[in-house]
Amino acid sequence: MNFELTDIAYSFYSNKKLKKKRIFLKIMRINAFIRSGKFLLKLFFALNLPVEWIFKKTIFPLFCGGENLKLSLKLVNDLGKKNILSVLDFSVEGLSNEKSFNDTFIEVKNSIINASNNQYIPFAVFKPTAIAKHDVLTGKLPVESVDYQNFRHRLIELSKYAAEHDVKLMIDAEDFAFQSVVDKEVELLMHRFNKEKTIVYTTIQMYRWDRTTYLHYLIDKAKSEMFFVGIKLVRGAYLEKENNLAQKGNYKSPIYSTKEETDEAYNNALLKIVNNINICELFAGTHNEESCMLLSNNILKTGLRKNDKRVYFAQLYGMSDNISMVLANQGYNVVKYIPYGPVKEVIPYLLRRAEENSSISKQSKKEIYLINKELKRRKNDNKQ
Ligand SMILES: Cc1cc2nc3c(=O)[nH]c(=O)nc-3n(C[C@H](O)[C@H](O)[C@H](O)COP(=O)(O)OP(=O)(O)OC[C@H]3O[C@@H](n4cnc5c(N)ncnc54)[C@H](O)[C@@H]3O)c2cc1C
Repeated sequence: MNFELTDIAYSFYSNKKLKKKRIFLKIMRINAFIRSGKFLLKLFFALNLPVEWIFKKTIFPLFCGGENLKLSLKLVNDLGKKNILSVLDFSVEGLSNEKSFNDTFIEVKNSIINASNNQYIPFAVFKPTAIAKHDVLTGKLPVESVDYQNFRHRLIELSKYAAEHDVKLMIDAEDFAFQSVVDKEVELLMHRFNKEKTIVYTTIQMYRWDRTTYLHYLIDKAKSEMFFVGIKLVRGAYLEKENNLAQKGNYKSPIYSTKEETDEAYNNALLKIVNNINICELFAGTHNEESCMLLSNNILKTGLRKNDKRVYFAQLYGMSDNISMVLANQGYNVVKYIPYGPVKEVIPYLLRRAEENSSISKQSKKEIYLINKELKRRKNDNKQ
């Protein structure tokens, strides 16, 4: 598998868009810019400067589908024509109150209907913090409390709705502090809704040193209780935050202390899931080339078809397009996670992407190299 086939990797991009992306990647490599960026943004908003307009013209189209579900469909269809499926992720980080939870609940239901009507959208997705108070998720409130019951009700209704519309429903993983409650509830959902097919997907963050044990437990439980397990497998996005919290709270960090340990756990988990594919479905959310290579080789080794509906590769829209496009071109199932929402409300998501881009500097360096290579190739082609 050659992830450097830039003509395939960037066939989706005009020269103008590629150049825009290169500028963005270069800026994001300057850590100091990102750190002061947050401060500047607050200042610009306070001064009523046209921050929204600037984002809309620059970063937003590089990483987001549109300001609402309908406006995101053009991108979904364009990607679909390149054999890339989409997951539309409502990336608005709302307030932690009942009104905001209900608004998200309705939006996720809309996204389920939207997915059921579109051949290119196999999944709907949401974040637990978008439908429940932190006190519910940390286990501070008992199961009998109204807030907890509201959370459980939303989970069940969304899963039921997804099952009725035959759409897979993915539940993101967030902070370590929330995951025990989320795990318990999602296991109940899988037990109830994944009896005949996989509707509900949990997310497992392999940067946590306890997750290999959890993965094995979950597979064993599914075998003995006879349900299917849907797993979005990621490394984990809250490394710095978790380590800082552990240091402040004086407890052992839930995260491995080295990247190598995370990588090994992630890759072993990929193999474990593929080896249990009769009971599991896998959504491998990663931009890591070695992991993608390992998984693609393993699909073949296990005798599965490349486009077996139980295994998906997934990358965030605007990141690692070379991996997504090359895998899709080879016939594997590839999904892009596409955030959408009003520009102003998606800005926190975009800032996190920017931070992530600056922290995975090896990848962004590689992407700049590949974009340069592709622009050069196009220039030479035009000369001939
Ligand atoms: C489609 C998709 C969906 C996602 N959904 C979620 C989600 O629901 N929840 C979530 O938390 N994240 C999610 N992520 C983000 C993901 O967890 C990673 O942060 C991101 O993808 C980078 O990891 P990687 O495998 O792509 O690449 P890599 O660059 O190979 O790995 C970077 C990751 O390695 C880990 N790491 C880095 N340094 C160290 C260290 N010193 N010690 C231990 N570990 C280290 C961290 O997890 C870091 O993010 C999602 C990503 C994708 C592509």
